[in-house]
Amino acid sequence: MPLALYDTWSRTLRPFTPLRPDYVGLYGCGPTVYDHAHIGNLRTYVFEDVLRRALVQNGYTVRHVVNITDVGHLVSDADDGEDKMEKGSRRTGESAWAIAERYTAAFQHDWRALNLLEPTIWCRATDHIAEQIDFIAELERNGYTYRTADGIYFDTARQDDYGYLARLDITGLQAGKRVAVGDKRRATDFALWKFSPPGSTRQMEWESPWGVGFPGWHIECSAMSAKYLGPWFDIHCGGEDHIAVHHSNEIAQTQARHGTRLANFWLHGHFLMLDAGKMAKSGGDFVRLQTLIERGVDPLAYRYLCLGAHYRSSLRFNMEALDAAQAALDRLRKVYRQWPEGGAPDAEAVARFNAEVDQDLNLPRALAVLWDVVRSDLPAATRRATLDCFDRVLGLRLADWREDVVTIPAGIALLATQRDGARAAKNWREADRLREQLRVEGWRVEDSAEGQVLRPLD
Ligand code: AMP
Ligand code: ZN
Repeated sequence: MPLALYDTWSRTLRPFTPLRPDYVGLYGCGPTVYDHAHIGNLRTYVFEDVLRRALVQNGYTVRHVVNITDVGHLVSDADDGEDKMEKGSRRTGESAWAIAERYTAAFQHDWRALNLLEPTIWCRATDHIAEQIDFIAELERNGYTYRTADGIYFDTARQDDYGYLARLDITGLQAGKRVAVGDKRRATDFALWKFSPPGSTRQMEWESPWGVGFPGWHIECSAMSAKYLGPWFDIHCGGEDHIAVHHSNEIAQTQARHGTRLANFWLHGHFLMLDAGKMAKSGGDFVRLQTLIERGVDPLAYRYLCLGAHYRSSLRFNMEALDAAQAALDRLRKVYRQWPEGGAPDAEAVARFNAEVDQDLNLPRALAVLWDVVRSDLPAATRRATLDCFDRVLGLRLADWREDVVTIPAGIALLATQRDGARAAKNWREADRLREQLRVEGWRVEDSAEGQVLRPLD
């Protein structure tokens, strides 16, 4: 059975065939780097990573492009309000440029901690201003733009099928919304280029044929994806929130310039939810990967948690679910490590696993196949080799895992030996004194059937 993916454009599960033999162009909308990414954002990138691994598993060479939005994403989708970067700059007292640098590095750190494959190309919006200006100039030549007091806008009235991706009810939208921004003509029109406010200088601004200012958010993805993948490529991804505005606008621009809807397949990951509602950067109520790490959670346990829910259903996050994921991953690592190397994978199990992955990335069912193999009576070496195959898609780094080896300094080891001696001599007071001294030095003693165990205090 070939790989089938759910395409938001057609709202159907479609067999995947690449536009060029054996090669897949894949674009994922990257983060807006005015703050840390939260684990909701990261869920979307885990889904895209699994997609990429599934494509590789199917024999394709993948060119994967991820952008970094470091300018132009406004606080409101309606083209008014502040640039998120300038807002971040006010919040932290650093320059918008410094913030972009810092949060890009933090994002890429999280990316690697989750064992996401490195994109073929990372591209920053501010490194592609010329491409965005060229794109807008071409839209202007084709008659798709108009000028207002605060910028150059895309005229969505020029396209009968504007918003098809989201099945937008344009008439309802126009009736329901007052257009308050500058003199933008329609609620669905959007900024291509915004002017710097008169009499003030922005931290990020550039000359353009229309005046000093900065690009609107949507144009960066149309310009950079066309540059690196061409104006008609295989798969474009992002979170479900992008369907109605960002991706609809990327399509509108590319349709107007190149006559394509940008990508043959549009895939969207559903949201990570908190009990209180959705997790959003602007909401303030968000959890970072680093916060989980500080609580002793392995980032790959979060990855495991994501794999346990289908990407097209929302995932409710809480610490109990995360603990369960950590326990499952620990168990998997321990059994895997006991099995010898040198076996060959079980072809039937691999075929079952791949069939689940190929069915629109059904990772929950693929994981069920994995646990069947763990519990099976296949020879241990076969089980190990089979899990090695699975892990190429799961990305849990089973083969790399080592139990933490704690190095105990000589002075601490000496105290522990003395305590052991005191216990053997039933000198409980001395044993307790030594326990306390170890605690002051930052070590906890646990007495078990196998003798005492030393652990560093958190
Ligand atoms: P942003 O940095 O806000 O531009 O978002 C980066 C990516 O995270 C986008 O693909 C969003 O669609 C996605 N995203 C935002 N919030 C969530 C969430 N709660 N769960 C899953 N994905 C999200
Ligand atoms: Zn985008």
